[in-house]
Parts: sequence; C-alpha cells; structure tokens
Amino acid sequence: MKGRTIMLQSANLGFPRIGLKRELKKATEAYWKGEIDYLALRKIGAKLRERHWRLQRDVGIEVIPSNDFSFYDQVLDTTAMLGAIPPRYRANGNNRDRLSPSARTPNAHAMMADVAETAATSGSVDLDTYFAMARGSAAAPAMEMTKWFDTNYHYIVPEFYEGQQFRLASRKVIDEFKEAKALGIHTRPVLVGPVTYLSLGKAKSPDLDPLSLLDRLLPVYADVLTALSEAGADWVQIDEPILGLDLSDAQRDAMRTAYTALSQSGLKILIATYFERLDDNLSFVASLPIDGLHVDLVRAPAQLVSVLSVWPKSRILSLGVVDGRNIWRTDLNAASGLIEKALAARGPDNLQIAPSCSLLHTPVDLDGETKLDDELKSWLAFSKQKLIEIQALTRAANEGKQATLEAFAASAAAVQSRASSARVHDEKVAACMAAITPGDANRSGSFAERQAKQRKRFALPKFPTTTIGSFPQTEEVRKTRAGHRRGDLDDATYDAFLMKEIENAVRIQENLGIDVLVHGEFERNDMVEYFGEQLSGFAFTQNGWVQSYGTRYVKPPIIFGDVSRPKPMTVRWSAYAQSLTDKPVKGMLTGPVTILQWSFVRDDQPGSVTCRQIALAIRDEVVDLEKAGIGIIQIDEPALREGLPLRHTDWQAYLDWAVQCFRISAGGASDLTQIHTHMCYGEFNDIMQAIAALDADVISIETSRSQMELLDGFSEFKYPNEIGPGVYDIHSPRCPCVGEMSNLIAKARERLAPDQIWINPDCGLKTRKWDEVLPALKNMVEAAKKMREDL
Ligand code: GLN
Ligand code: ZN
Repeated sequence: MKGRTIMLQSANLGFPRIGLKRELKKATEAYWKGEIDYLALRKIGAKLRERHWRLQRDVGIEVIPSNDFSFYDQVLDTTAMLGAIPPRYRANGNNRDRLSPSARTPNAHAMMADVAETAATSGSVDLDTYFAMARGSAAAPAMEMTKWFDTNYHYIVPEFYEGQQFRLASRKVIDEFKEAKALGIHTRPVLVGPVTYLSLGKAKSPDLDPLSLLDRLLPVYADVLTALSEAGADWVQIDEPILGLDLSDAQRDAMRTAYTALSQSGLKILIATYFERLDDNLSFVASLPIDGLHVDLVRAPAQLVSVLSVWPKSRILSLGVVDGRNIWRTDLNAASGLIEKALAARGPDNLQIAPSCSLLHTPVDLDGETKLDDELKSWLAFSKQKLIEIQALTRAANEGKQATLEAFAASAAAVQSRASSARVHDEKVAACMAAITPGDANRSGSFAERQAKQRKRFALPKFPTTTIGSFPQTEEVRKTRAGHRRGDLDDATYDAFLMKEIENAVRIQENLGIDVLVHGEFERNDMVEYFGEQLSGFAFTQNGWVQSYGTRYVKPPIIFGDVSRPKPMTVRWSAYAQSLTDKPVKGMLTGPVTILQWSFVRDDQPGSVTCRQIALAIRDEVVDLEKAGIGIIQIDEPALREGLPLRHTDWQAYLDWAVQCFRISAGGASDLTQIHTHMCYGEFNDIMQAIAALDADVISIETSRSQMELLDGFSEFKYPNEIGPGVYDIHSPRCPCVGEMSNLIAKARERLAPDQIWINPDCGLKTRKWDEVLPALKNMVEAAKKMREDL
C-alpha cells in the first residue's frame, strides 16, 4: 500500500481475535488460574496475530489492520496506552501475585510485548494491572463495562479524575506494527480515536468534563503516531464511531482540534465511521484535515450519494459494503452496484473496499461448521469468507466481473435460493402475520380492571415477594443437561432429574414463604437459545462465537426463516411446577425483542417483521400456559433498551414496533392472567413512555445498585402499574442483610404507592450458589414482612 494508489484496494478494519477454537479465551483463563505464565499467554497472542495476518494476506487483502488484537478490549488497551490508570490500581504493580501466582517470575514483566519495563520502574502498564482494571482484584473493584454502541460487545469504560494526566504507557500498537512487519506484512494500525475515547469515558470527579482533557491527551496520540511513522507505518486507521451519533458542538470542536493536531504527525489518517450514517456529520468530517474516510454502507447504503458528493476524490474513500455485524453471505451484485456508483463518480483512485466495520462482531470461519446443512451454509459467510468476498469485489471492480465469475455466480445462487426457499418463507406464518389486527396488541380490560380481577384471584399480601426466574445452575444441573444433549442420558432419566430439581425449588420457595413461585429454569442453557431451539426458522452453529466481553463469548442463534412455534415450549415444566403447590407459579418466557436482539437476524426483511413473527409465537405460548392453569406469566425483555437506534431521531420508530411486539405477545392473555415483564441493565428515564406503553401488569427492574434512583423516572412519570424494584444485587456473592433491603424498600416507598410495590431480586439467580441464595431470599422475605407490619 505504499506509493501511488492506482486501483481499488481491498481493506479490512479489524479481525476477530478470539481464534477459531477460542484459543484466546482458553489461554487467558489458564493464565488467570495460574496454569500458564505470562510468556505462554503472550506466545498464544502472537500466534493468533500471526495466523490472522497471514490469513488476511493469503486471501488477498491489501490493507491489513494491526492492533486490532487485544487481551481483553480495545478501549481498555487505549486506556493502557494513555496511562489513564484509575488511582485504585496504582498500588497493583507490587501486588501482582494476587491475580496470578505465575506472575511471580521476576523477569517475566520485562518480557511483555506491551510493557517496556516493569511498572515500578517506568510507570508502564503491566498485564496484571491491565487485567485488574478489567476484572477487579482483591484490592480494587473492576472498572465499569458497557455496550459498544449498539452491539453486544462490551468495552471497559474509561474513568477520568480531577488532575487527570496522560502519558505513553503502553507501546502495544507500535510493537504489533513491528511484529507484523517482521513477518513481512505491512499493516495499517488501528486506534480508538481520541474523541470517541473521551466521549465514552466517565468523569469520576464532580464538574469534570472528559472533553476538557483533550489537550492533555493529544500529545500522547501524537507521540504514538510519530513512533509508528518512525517504525515505517504510512497510514493509521483511527476509529471514531461517535461520528454516527448526534454530536454536540463541544464534540465537534474536539474533533477539529484533535485532527488538526494529529495531521502534523506525517502519518496519513483514515477515520473509520461505522454502525450508522454520518448525516449532518458528513460535511463536518470532510472539513477535517484527514486523508481517508471509511463509511458503513451496510447500515446506511443511502448515504453513498451524499458521501460521493461531499468527500473529495483526492482522498481515500473506504466503502464498507460487506456486513461486519452479521453472518449472511454478501449479495455481490448488490455490493458491486454500490462500488460501480463510486467508480462512476470518482474513478478507481483512492477507493478501498472493506467490511462495514471491524469483523470483531462476526465469527471467525464458516469452514469450522460441519453440522450445518449445505443449503443453509451456502447462505452464510463468517470473517474469513467475508474477506474473500471483499477480495472478489475488489478484483471485479479492477478487472471486470469476468475475473471473479465464480464468486459472483455462487453469491447469486445463494441469494436466489434464500429468496425462494420454503425453509425461509412459510405461507402459514405469512397468513398469521396478515391476520394481525390492532386489537391483538391490547388486553381486554384496562389496567385498573385487570388489577381488580387479579387481586381477587390471587389474594396476594401487600409487598408480594417473587424471584426473576432462574435458580442456581449447579454443577450437577449443567452436567446433566450437557450429558442429555450429548445423548449420554436418555429423555426419561433427564426428565426425572428436571422434575426432581423443580420439586426441590418449589419446596424451597414454599419454606421461605415466597408468594409467587418460579420453576427455576433448570432446563435452560440460555434464555434465547432455549426458545430458538424449539422455534422454526432458527439455526445454531458449533463455533459461531463472538466476543461479548473479555473471555466471555456468545454464540447467537441465526434466525434464517419465518418464525413459528410447532408446539408448546415451556408448558410442561410450568404446569408440573404448578401441580406441586397451591401458590401461584409464574410461567417464564423470553420476549420477542430480546430474542431478536440476541440473535443474528435476517437481513432480507426488516427486524420489526421478524420480531412480530416471534411475538406471535410467544403469544401462542402465553395462551397455552394460561390454558394449562398458569395464572401469572412473565415475558422477559432485558434487551428492549439496548435495541435503541444510535440516532435519537430513529428512537420512536423503534420503540413503536418493539412495544407493539411485546403487546402482541401478551395480548392473548385474559384479564385474570397477570402479565409480568423483567428488564435489567440500563436507564429507563428516557423511555418511560414506552415502558408504560408495554402495559405489563407488573414490571421487575434492576435497581439495587442505583439505590433505587432508577425509580425516579417511574415516579415522575406517575407509572400506574405494579413494579418490583430489585432489592438484592445478584451480581455480588455477598448476602444482603434485612436492614439493607428494608432501606431499599423504604426508598422505593418514597417514590411509589405502597400497593404498587413487589419485592424481588434484581435479576435471575442462575449464576449464584444455593448457599448464597437461601440466606439472601430468607432476608428478602423477612424485609417484606417487616414492611407489611409497618403499613
Ligand atoms: N428469567 C431470566 C432469569 O431469571 C431473566 C434473565 C435476564 O433478565 N437476563 O434468568
Ligand atoms: Zn435480568
């Protein structure tokens, strides 16, 4: 990529780092356990980088990224690079052995690729401090983590303090550039941009505006660029996905200041934007002194026209035409249509063909899937296949389509078979969709009417107690489920085991004096997978892992076709639990929006349509649960909020269909049936209208860590229905005492009417142990009783 660009180039923005066989997870966790040392971990990192660089080169990618690798998270890497270590970890350099016994080897630190010298002598960030920031240590809790834009990837939130300073404290980006160079691969290093970095961070001191730190931050970025240039780099990719959001004037000013300063480095800068259209930020970004721009044409193909008219021909334009966030094989004809447009407007110089965003969000290699049938497989592309597509598109643009006829023919055949396959298009589903009436989204009676009927039916005490659904998934539960899955255990034995677990859970809840019971969800591996496996239109991969955070990877189901429910999914277990007790047992379902959000979704119809199909399936389940005598049904929607679009102007349209889908799923229930929903993670204040519009009879939310502050929105809004604000932080192994929970309930009472309040934990208990759960629930019931006495 040195010298004059005369033709289109193939480029990549980032490759998944986890390894086809999740090598990075295994190595990192082994390091944490002290089973391997630093050097071994470092070696595996280097091996993965080498493998991925070579793979990219071998499939013909010309612009290959480096520094897309990370031992945990690229934002945390940036924090390390900038030396923005929160004060609570500073003592850590001397306490490494707390995190990893293996780190005791005295000279191991000096061997780290991303550490120049030991923390004690140079102030560089050593790997154990790095992991302590990500995961916490005995001495200091972890830094917060949150979702990277609208993906399911989580980054470690930077923290800024009064008097914050920055210094070059990790040379990882420079070292990895050199590492690739030594392998004969000239890369374009990737950095998280300064304005995105500051905007995603949180000020931990009052009156501190993160953007005000820009002037202190820029010299470190400038040093990095200079060092890269000295090492032989000519281009750098700086990711500023924040440009897809509504920007404040301050953010734009910061952007201008930043790139005016960084343009002096001698290194050419490509700003990568993704996940959204640039809109009003387009002409702004074109006015910056940068040399290249990457745009996402999968999320926002329509922006190509304005991009072509605004972005100068003399500068690189990178066209993101292959979906970096989904698993579908690219329609090469459609993608090359976009490329042709750009070619017609600009000619071939300074054009690059790329994925829409880093491939971090896509699994590694479809070749690893041996159990998918050929037809379905022919519809898919993982990271490696996407790079091959990019190469084919680039070659076709440079040499004409006849150069890659085969690739185009295969792509067209896949498009054709997906468009016409009976596995994708189900007439029965189409008929059900067409038959939906506005009334289907409504319960019969108003909330007040339903509440009156339900109170009579269930005669629950004030401040009724319940849990969110799952009970501890013990080693035995996991093992038995896995054994059954493998076929080691026959159905009858497995069913008997589940019945025993359910009965045990019911008795425990009865003994504790909980008012509304659950069956415990022992049969479920995952709240989306469990339903996906029983619904038509879903497929599952063997190795389709993507990083969620750190060493936690997820394997989202693939929704490839019209969704329907061949038969009841949960009725059997809920009905069995109900048969054991006189107390009401809640049926437990995952809501349509959450199933959609946590899957790879179809790209051949709007998400709203797929969601409505799922809603109909859940609705059928609700009706069947009701028929089986289940009077209370919870439809979990923890992902409702995270589905919000990045641009505010798009929020209402999303909320309208998301709320409608929830209401369709609940709408078949009679007034006597009490519909609950549950949500965790996140603020609700700015979407109160939508939460109220769900019209669930009861909503439970995560509130304990916010000290009930999250309830302010509900009280300001005068939220009419019933609410269970979580009084017990299930993320912590610590047992909350009665007083603590009473305090929280008192805080809830300040904000809500007493007969509105339910008492429950923040979320499901599946990650906890029984000996943590039992005393905590005992205290919770006790706190509820106290509250009743105080009435
Ligand atoms: N019912 C689910 C459980 O208890 C809810 C999980 C969630 O909200 N993420 O596990
Ligand atoms: Zn939850």
